[in-house]
Amino acid sequence: MYMTIGEVFAQTVRKFPKKEAVVDMAKGRRYTYEQWEKEVHRLANALLEAGVQKGDRVSTVLFNTLELGTAFFACAKIGAIFNPINFRLKSREIAYILEDATPKVVLFEKAVEPQIASIHHEFPHILFWYIDDDTPSYAANYHALVSNAQTTAPSIEVFESDIYAMMYTSGTTGRPKGVLHRHRDMIEQSMICNAVMRIRDADRGLVSAPMFHCAELHCCFLPRVHAGAANIILHHFDPKLVLKTIEQEKITLLFAAPTMWNMLLQENLRAYDLSSLRLGLYGAAPMAPVLVKECKERLGIDLIQAYGMTEMGPAVTFLLEDEQLTKAGSAGRACLNHEVRIVKPREDGPSDPDDVLPPGEVGEIIMRGPCMMVGYYNREEATAKAMYKGWYHSGDLGYMDEEGYLYVADRVDDMVISGGENVYPREVEDVLYEHPGVLDVAVVGEPDEIWGEKVVAFVVKKDPNVTEEDLEQFCKTSDRLAPYKRPRAYYFVDALPRNASGKIQKFLLREQVKNAAKS
Ligand code: ATP
Repeated sequence: MYMTIGEVFAQTVRKFPKKEAVVDMAKGRRYTYEQWEKEVHRLANALLEAGVQKGDRVSTVLFNTLELGTAFFACAKIGAIFNPINFRLKSREIAYILEDATPKVVLFEKAVEPQIASIHHEFPHILFWYIDDDTPSYAANYHALVSNAQTTAPSIEVFESDIYAMMYTSGTTGRPKGVLHRHRDMIEQSMICNAVMRIRDADRGLVSAPMFHCAELHCCFLPRVHAGAANIILHHFDPKLVLKTIEQEKITLLFAAPTMWNMLLQENLRAYDLSSLRLGLYGAAPMAPVLVKECKERLGIDLIQAYGMTEMGPAVTFLLEDEQLTKAGSAGRACLNHEVRIVKPREDGPSDPDDVLPPGEVGEIIMRGPCMMVGYYNREEATAKAMYKGWYHSGDLGYMDEEGYLYVADRVDDMVISGGENVYPREVEDVLYEHPGVLDVAVVGEPDEIWGEKVVAFVVKKDPNVTEEDLEQFCKTSDRLAPYKRPRAYYFVDALPRNASGKIQKFLLREQVKNAAKS
């Protein structure tokens, strides 16, 4: 018997009514659990008054804001399906999701107004609610609507088996798909994250990674509410502000994607008192072991890695504090109630879950567990393929060691095949990250007449004097890179293209080298 997300929230309010629950740093608002519950109920009632019914979708195109957090619980209270949309998307990308999800209400803010302004007329049936001042004429003001609504709990029956959210995949490997999760899936995910991070009501977590993404929302924000801890919300990630807020707000928990940790390491860490920080979570993309080590040493905190994907809730494996150095490079072991297998990939369809490969051999990573999605919204074929025989097929390549530790090699699409040999870019990237002159790096395959593909590296310099020859020499002397894995060309760039969750958009780099080869 599981609770619903609305019931979990109510339980925390009963236990910790006067405790600080949430802080919106950008707007200087602080709520105790009791105060926040009133806001949640007001929004839930305002949505009902606007005609939102159980099962309807409510979308947000918001940066990290109190309103996003409030909408998360308000939707749960009335059985509406919460649909957080990436604030970085361009107008046509947002329009694609709105067409697919057909929400009743969209909450948005000033920072994304230009995108919404150019598409709202295509959706005459959607109510647009604006959370800032200067409400545009096509929208209603959120606060005006919500401040007049009742603060009593709405009396809608919601069950643990009801769908609670629809989150769109970021589309790194195709058109975004709406991932459906039930209340119970997220309660289970929240309990697992609570157990792994040992979250207590005394904890104060900083929300600086995007809240629309499940890593921040499901692994950090929700588990902290579950435990009665506080969420301190930053509108967006800014390394200096993150460090200042850790000091000022006595932050104990921080999640950041690898690129964000890397940005923090470039700051003058000694200028801040970071002693309150007890645990850092990283994941959502590969992180080079050398960066993990540097974080541990320079920030002086324990770190935990999570590996997973939207479809799985997201976390599936964790590499715990004491395993960071002994199992460097691994993504850890399957978490409670989860199972992970490495199976032989098939060209003609989903791989068979029983085709298990022995330890050390690279294959497709498949998994199952209680937080697995119900399926993709309106995409039966894609769902059947992804969840073949009850196992989620990740499309990630990796291997497992004798002790069940998972090593994520790369996505199937990112692997480079050079002269018939498979090269996993991550192996090459991990070596290049160790060069002191390298800040950021991405390795991809460039079409090549002789080899089919050749390995090339895009590099952001830390030291402006570093040269191609330096890096070539460094790779040559590494005892971890066979000659065919060494980059044949280095492209120095100012920044790598990343999506909002910090993943390098390698398809853009591949397009770039393909176009350059053609011209
Ligand atoms: P798509 O749109 O292609 O379905 P996505 O980027 O939206 O993908 P997410 O759920 O955001 O999907 O990310 C999942 C992917 O992120 C995983 O399949 C894996 O490739 C990568 N990933 C997540 N955590 C880790 C980790 N700890 N180490 C390496 N890779 C990771």
